[in-house]
Amino acid sequence: MSSAGGWISFSEIKSRVTIEQVLRSYRVDWLRRSGDQQYRGRCPVHQGEGEEAFHANFRRNIFHCFACGAGGNVLDLLAAMEGCSIREAALRLRGGQVSGSAAASRPAERQLVTKKRILNSPLGFSLTLEGRHPYVARRGIDLVTADRFGVGYYSGAGLMSGRIAIPIHDARGRLVAYCGRAIDGTAPRYRFPAGFQKSQILFNYHRAVEAGVRPLIVVEGFFDCMRIHQAGFPCVVALMGARLSWEQRTLMTDRFSSIVLMLDGDQTGRRASAQIATDLGPAIAITDLRLPANLQPDQMQSDQIQQMLA
Ligand SMILES: [Zn+2]
Repeated sequence: MSSAGGWISFSEIKSRVTIEQVLRSYRVDWLRRSGDQQYRGRCPVHQGEGEEAFHANFRRNIFHCFACGAGGNVLDLLAAMEGCSIREAALRLRGGQVSGSAAASRPAERQLVTKKRILNSPLGFSLTLEGRHPYVARRGIDLVTADRFGVGYYSGAGLMSGRIAIPIHDARGRLVAYCGRAIDGTAPRYRFPAGFQKSQILFNYHRAVEAGVRPLIVVEGFFDCMRIHQAGFPCVVALMGARLSWEQRTLMTDRFSSIVLMLDGDQTGRRASAQIATDLGPAIAITDLRLPANLQPDQMQSDQIQQMLA
C-alpha cells in the first residue's frame, strides 16, 4: 500500500540509525550492560518472559531475543516493535532523519516518539497473507471465513514472520494492528505489536455493528469469533482475552441492548462471565451461555453452535 517514497536505501539507514536510538525512542531504559557495547534485559518486542532474553550489541548495531526469536538490524527492530514491514520501517526512519547531514541523533528519536501508536492509530500498510495455509484449515476456518476476516500466513520478515496474522480493526473499521498466532508452539502464542492497546478494541466490532440490531455474542478469542461467524452468527466480538475493559464496555453499551456471553468453559471463562454480568448488568440484557467444561467455541461444530444459540 505505501508505495509513497519510491526507492529507499536500506543500507544507508542501517548505517545512520542506531539500535540504541530506536530503543531509547521507546523508552527502553532497563537494559543492563553485559560486556563491551553489549546489553541485555527484558525484551521490548514480546514484552513477556525472560528477564535476560533480549540481547543488543550497540557496536555491531544488532539485536536478538532468545525468547521470541526477534532479531536482526535496526530495521528489523523497528519492524518488530511496530509490527510493520521492513520497507515501512525504512520509510519511517528515513522520514525521521530529515536531512542525513547532522550525524543523526535527535531527529529520529523525536519522530519515533510521535509516531508511537498510543491509541491504535490506523496502519499505513497491509500485509500480503496466505489464507489457504493448512493451519487455518486445521483450526476449522473455511476459505470464505478466512477471506472475510483477512487472516492468513505471513512469510515475510518482521514481527508476524512465520505466523498466522489476524488483522484487527477499530470501531470504524480501520486496520490498526495485526496479531500473530504461532503455528509451531513458539512463544508467545499470540504476538501483538508493542504499544497496541488491546483494551481499546473489541475484535470484529465493526462487522458486528454492520450485522444489524440483534444480541451481541461475546467470546474470548479470535478463532472463537471466526467459528461463531462461520456458523451463521455475524454479530459476534472477541475480547481478546477474558477481561472486559471500560472502553470495551462502552463500545458494547453504545450500540447494543443485549449480549450473549459465550466464554470458555473453564474456570477463567466462568469467572470472567460472572464479572462481566456484574459490570454490565444494569446497562444491558445478558444471557450467559455456559459452555460444557473445558469446551471453547472454536472447538465446536457449526450445528452445535447453532443449537446452543437457537
Ligand atoms: Zn522477545
